[in-house]
Parts: sequence; structure tokens; C-alpha cells
Amino acid sequence: MKSMTCNQLGGACEQVFSGETFDELAVQSQHHGKEMFGANDEPHMAAMGKMMVLMKSGEMESWMAARKAEFEAL
Ligand SMILES: [Zn+2]
Repeated sequence: MKSMTCNQLGGACEQVFSGETFDELAVQSQHHGKEMFGANDEPHMAAMGKMMVLMKSGEMESWMAARKAEFEAL
């Protein structure tokens, strides 16, 4: 079992996600992000804005690959 925080996954808090695979963490992180977005949590809205920039610039895949490498290195 490995863990990463919301911050490490491009979010904005210290919430910890744990799982056997990076995909498991990604799902939890996305779910948490949606919840925070629904609650109009400002730091998470800003974090999501940065994600949108990454997505538009086409750098999302390499960014995700880097996060996954961090997970694998744990
Ligand atoms: Zn968070």
C-alpha cells in the first residue's frame, strides 16, 4: 500500500490517498477534487485551474507520468 497527499497529486491540501496502484490514487484524488470543487473550496479551485492549463497545453500526460513515477518510487 502506498500513499500520496492531495498536494503531491496537484491538489491543495494534506488529505492522504492510499492504494496499491497509481490508478487507485488517481480515482480517489479526482473524487476528492470534485467534492472540493462542489464546495467551492478556493485553493482546490485554483489547483484545478492549473490542471486545466496543463490540459490545454497538452502537458497533462507528461505531468501525470511524472506523478506516477513519484508513486512508483515510494
Ligand atoms: Zn485536497
